[in-house]
Amino acid sequence: MNKAPSQPPLESLPVTALKGAGPRMAERLARLGLRTVQDVLFHLPLRYQDRTRVVPIGTLRVSDEAVIVGEVQLSEIKLGRRRMLLVRVADGSGGILLRFFHFSAQQQAGLARGAMVRCFGEVRAGPAMLEMVHPEYRVIADAAPDAQGYATTAVDECLTPVYPATEGVQQYTLRALSSAALDLAAGEPGLQELLPAEILARLKLPPLLDALAYVHRPPPDASLTMLQEGSHPAQQRLAFEELLAHHLSLRLLRNKIQASRAPQLNAPGRLMNVLLDSLPFALTGAQRRVTDEIMRDLRRASPMQRLVQGDVGSGKTIVAALAVLHAVEAGFQAAVMAPTELLAEQHLQNFTRWLAPLDLEIAWLSGKQPGKARRTMLERLASGQATVAVGTHALFQEGVEFASLGLIVVDEQHRFGVHQRLALREKGNQLGRHPHQLIMTATPIPRTLAMTAYADLDSSIIDELPPGRTPVETVVVPDTRRAEVVERVRGACRTGRQAYWVCTLIEESETLQCQAAADTAVQLTEALPELRIGLVHGRLKTSEKAQVMAAFKAGELDLLVATTVIEVGVDVPNASLMIIENAERLGLAQLHQLRGRVGRGAQKSSCILMYHGPLSRDGRARLAALRETNDGFEIARRDLALRGPGEVLGTRQSGMLQLHIADLVRDQALIPKIEQAAELLLQHYPERVPLLISRWLGEAARYGDV
Ligand code: ADP
Ligand code: MG
Repeated sequence: MNKAPSQPPLESLPVTALKGAGPRMAERLARLGLRTVQDVLFHLPLRYQDRTRVVPIGTLRVSDEAVIVGEVQLSEIKLGRRRMLLVRVADGSGGILLRFFHFSAQQQAGLARGAMVRCFGEVRAGPAMLEMVHPEYRVIADAAPDAQGYATTAVDECLTPVYPATEGVQQYTLRALSSAALDLAAGEPGLQELLPAEILARLKLPPLLDALAYVHRPPPDASLTMLQEGSHPAQQRLAFEELLAHHLSLRLLRNKIQASRAPQLNAPGRLMNVLLDSLPFALTGAQRRVTDEIMRDLRRASPMQRLVQGDVGSGKTIVAALAVLHAVEAGFQAAVMAPTELLAEQHLQNFTRWLAPLDLEIAWLSGKQPGKARRTMLERLASGQATVAVGTHALFQEGVEFASLGLIVVDEQHRFGVHQRLALREKGNQLGRHPHQLIMTATPIPRTLAMTAYADLDSSIIDELPPGRTPVETVVVPDTRRAEVVERVRGACRTGRQAYWVCTLIEESETLQCQAAADTAVQLTEALPELRIGLVHGRLKTSEKAQVMAAFKAGELDLLVATTVIEVGVDVPNASLMIIENAERLGLAQLHQLRGRVGRGAQKSSCILMYHGPLSRDGRARLAALRETNDGFEIARRDLALRGPGEVLGTRQSGMLQLHIADLVRDQALIPKIEQAAELLLQHYPERVPLLISRWLGEAARYGDV
């Protein structure tokens, strides 16, 4: 074919360059995100149908999708609630019923007894025999018996791709478009291969064009199973390129951030030492190591972007407090943000206890604060009189100004995508200087994710719990044994232990949750009259909540009935028993967080996961995981396998890391190779990096432009 030499590259060639795509079709394709020929090439099949061979009817099983050829033995119209055409077809190996609800007289005549038909459809179990409902079919004339005596006829040459489609865009259109796009890709200028040959050779991956051709048009001998799993080398090649593109985009972002300026925080560490001397404990080795890593970052002239991972109870708060003191001693302000009001209050208490003796003023930013109190706090932050701000994330979104913000601490927020991190960074921008950021999470990020979703961050791990912690013994019981559980609470509290009773509800409604907790508190008060029982939930006023928590902490309450508001941050070492009602409704990470509220003292702690049967398979797997391990990393790993990264990281909501082809669980084995490939590209082929990123991230790549 003769192509004009001036034809633009496929990434800027509009879909209308493809035969069969006019302006109206282009509009519909845009709804699928398909604007250019390159987009069409990367719009990959969701699954495949095997129309390459005729299957003997006798071997069909329910839910198979297959081509069959047979002779019509019986054709009748059934009148009933719905008029329908029933056609019985047999091929010598067995028979099947075709069922049509919509049909013309002409169709009915064509499907008369003795006609040979070829059909494609999904096999279902019918009342009398296997059926196909509204199969695609054709009456054929040229069927000749094959060697086995079954009738055969012409079939497709490749497995048939099934694409993600939308209204007004049919599968046959998408098939035609992808064929046309593959033709263009194979021509001149064609599709650019962006992975260097040495990488492909080392990883034994096929070239891009071969991979795409295979995935769009798999040959008849292709393994349908492999293709459906996504494990074929052609698919792995594409997944690899996609993961690499994401990794590179975050690496570039990281480089850009490192090239920007931050206040250099230099301080001899006087305040830190005063605090450390006042603590009733010494830092663990892991806490010391991570604190050193943070201090080193803070002294640099480029902004720290560090993620601190540490299991529940590993002591992240004190590490954050030391970083805050370092910033303050260096003459800057620090902000500490938590995801919930309750957790923010816990921080306020801890920080007040630790910082007040050092004569530092803390500004408290609460959603429930009266306007006047808030204005005062804002003024004190703007003037620099208050050196530390504590509050929820939400509170920092609105009009908070700092005199000289040097450090932002974000606690318990693994659902904090790159967009949020950037927004925060911009917020703290002062005369072109960006504050340092410290992000703390109890959800360990598996390496697969760290490489892709968090490659813009440095990471530190607190991999040691403070001494004297005892592993929590976890049991799983059905709620039919509730009475026994109540007795267990009585027994534990009689010996001076304290307990939590956590109520959960399936509804997202906070009001209903609070009501359920209140009802439970009433029931338990009746059942356990000798116990002092408190109630805490999200609907209480801040001061009421604080009062109840303080009473529980002081040992003036035996049992605390609570909603999941106590999920993070609450810290009462003497509490050694936790009951979680309807535990099957919560996710693994949440259950692990909740359980982390016990096992903080020297006594042996237990957690009772009470469920309402019957359990789903996933529900059973979650509760079993919790019973079997206390290790947050192992739990995160299982969580990922059960739910997938979109759910675990909340990426669906935050729009972070949207993968088209790669799957972070399935493709874990690729991850270590990504880093090497990224190095090689950045060093020897830097010009290909932006092309790779825009090919796979498209619009989303714009967050790189900071
Ligand atoms: P998390 O990492 O879950 O945020 P916290 O910071 O709330 O953990 O710490 C849990 C508890 O452990 C707190 O009571 C804290 O004072 C205590 N703690 C922290 N570090 C140590 C340590 N090195 N030795 C003993 N107790 C510690
Ligand atoms: Mg914490």
